[in-house]
Amino acid sequence: MTFTPAFTWAYLRLSYGGKSLAGQLADCTKLATGYGTSITEGNVFRDSDRSATSGVRRERFEALIETLNALPRKHGGLLLAYKQDRLERDSGDLERLMEACDRAGVKVLTGFGEVVVTLGARTPARINSALGRGESENTKVRVRDELAKNAQAGKAHGRESFGWDRHYEFDPRTGKKLRSWETVNTYEADLLNSAARRHLAGETLRSIAADWAAKKVRGRMGAAITRQQLKQLLLRERNVGWRIHHGQVANREAQWPAIMDESLWSQVCALINDRRQPERGRPREALLSGTVLCGVCGAVCRVFTKGATRTAASRKVYQCQAKMCTSRSVIMLDEWVLGQVEDWMCTAEADRVLALAHGHDGAASLAELNRLRAKKATYEDRLFREVIDEEGFGRAMAALRPQIAAAEAAVSAVSGRPSYVDVLEADDRVAAFLELNHERRRAFIRELFDIRVGIVIRRGPGVFCEESVAFATRKDLLAS
Ligand SMILES: [Zn+2]
Repeated sequence: MTFTPAFTWAYLRLSYGGKSLAGQLADCTKLATGYGTSITEGNVFRDSDRSATSGVRRERFEALIETLNALPRKHGGLLLAYKQDRLERDSGDLERLMEACDRAGVKVLTGFGEVVVTLGARTPARINSALGRGESENTKVRVRDELAKNAQAGKAHGRESFGWDRHYEFDPRTGKKLRSWETVNTYEADLLNSAARRHLAGETLRSIAADWAAKKVRGRMGAAITRQQLKQLLLRERNVGWRIHHGQVANREAQWPAIMDESLWSQVCALINDRRQPERGRPREALLSGTVLCGVCGAVCRVFTKGATRTAASRKVYQCQAKMCTSRSVIMLDEWVLGQVEDWMCTAEADRVLALAHGHDGAASLAELNRLRAKKATYEDRLFREVIDEEGFGRAMAALRPQIAAAEAAVSAVSGRPSYVDVLEADDRVAAFLELNHERRRAFIRELFDIRVGIVIRRGPGVFCEESVAFATRKDLLAS
């Protein structure tokens, strides 16, 4: 049985964890040779990164059917595929292909040990089709197991990380990726180490992030690094060479070099994680200083110490700093205000503040950005496993990059998300508030409330004249 090359086609498609396109073509060529024919490049149809179950239209598959349909009836020829599951994973596709081949008299050969599908032998083709669907399910399990195995081995996963450069080695003959490895990006690693030391010395993450932005330091996404991102960068177990899988340390000797000393890293993590600890190197300010206003003249109240015993906390008062119109015991006012705040948490007004904050906050934009980033990581992962080639990856990235940039812009447009939103979003708002460190409690109260102290009308030892204190939600937060 012989065919002229022009009558021989090959269809190649990548699948998750499957054989490369070059490998599939080599097998098809071998098969063609066995049938006394060969395949010309113009007759090869390749679909890269088209998982048959993902519902993405396989363009070259459609082109193949079109080509077959354009042939005269009973034209004759040979269609080769590496495995039948490369041809179709959907019985509808199979029917269309078989119909086109039938009409044009083209014989379909898959095979390499499998059932060979030929005209008039459709039953095995349909059985293979059903098996192919089962295999998609198995693939998910296989991929999951493989990820766990890579984690145990300390292999890197996902995109290149801030602090390292990733390198690849290709087989010069086949173009196949042989291995990848990471080296320290000393510029970024130095920046991170210095950020950790600066934060431990008392500098805020916000100020460090601002400094980085001024130095034009860019994250892997090409954008400036926010305070929140800086915090995440510092907290990464990756910094000390630990590979994490599902939130657990899978391997303490990962296959990438550590960029931070373990003791420095654990210190900075402790500082960031211990929310009750006030930021170091900064004098602890009274809870309400700068927040409480004088009910008489409207000036800001500051802490003063009354009398001779300057260390006694009981002598500290919030006092109108302009004209000394009013003053109130720090201990008593703090306690009373904290009680008011806790009561306020369960009011409709608190719900309203949250609802208004959500109105202009980017929960949806953030979800969208996270979705796109996950998609990008998936492509990177596929490239890493050679499920797609550099070209397919490049195409996918070209489509994704502008979407990610747009989503990032949308998120940063609402990065002015007020910090109190986190507390108000918590299931137990009071508990979330009490968990805040001193600095954040101060900020929470300052951002939300209007507190004014008037002239005391009721005096006496241990008496706190609450009638003369006005506690209210800031009006600007309630205006929509
Ligand atoms: Zn005053």
